[in-house]
Amino acid sequence: MKTITFVDEVDGAIKSFCCQVSVYQKYGGRCAYCGQKITLHEMQVDHIEPIRRGLMQLPEEIERLSHIDNLNPACGPCNHRKRTHPVEEFRAEIASQVERLRRDRNQFRMAERYGQIEATGKPVIFWFER
Ligand SMILES: [Zn+2]
Repeated sequence: MKTITFVDEVDGAIKSFCCQVSVYQKYGGRCAYCGQKITLHEMQVDHIEPIRRGLMQLPEEIERLSHIDNLNPACGPCNHRKRTHPVEEFRAEIASQVERLRRDRNQFRMAERYGQIEATGKPVIFWFER
C-alpha cells in the first residue's frame, strides 16, 4: 500500500497517511489497544514502532514506519499514554497503574478495603492480540 509521509508545516511533526480509513478498519472501528469503539473522527493513528522525533532518520526508515503494518487505530487516551513508547513499554505502563493508584489514591485503597474493587493481576493483553 502506498504511503505518503510529510512534515507538517504548522507543528513540524512527521505525519503520514496510509489511507486513514484502512487504519480505522484494521480492528473494526475499535482502538487496537483497549478495544473501545471509536469513530473515524476520534481515531488517532499510532505508530506501533514509534517514529523517534528529534532523531535523524533516513527517509526509507520513515517510510517503513509509516506503512500500514506499523499503524494502529487508537483512542485518544491510549495514544496519549503510549506516546512514543514501543508496545512492551506501553504494556508495562498499563500494568503499573494499579500499584500507582494504590500508592497515590486513598479512594482506591478505601474501595479495595471495602471490597468494591479488586485488582486481578491479569496480564495486559491488547485488543489487537486477542
Ligand atoms: Zn484505547
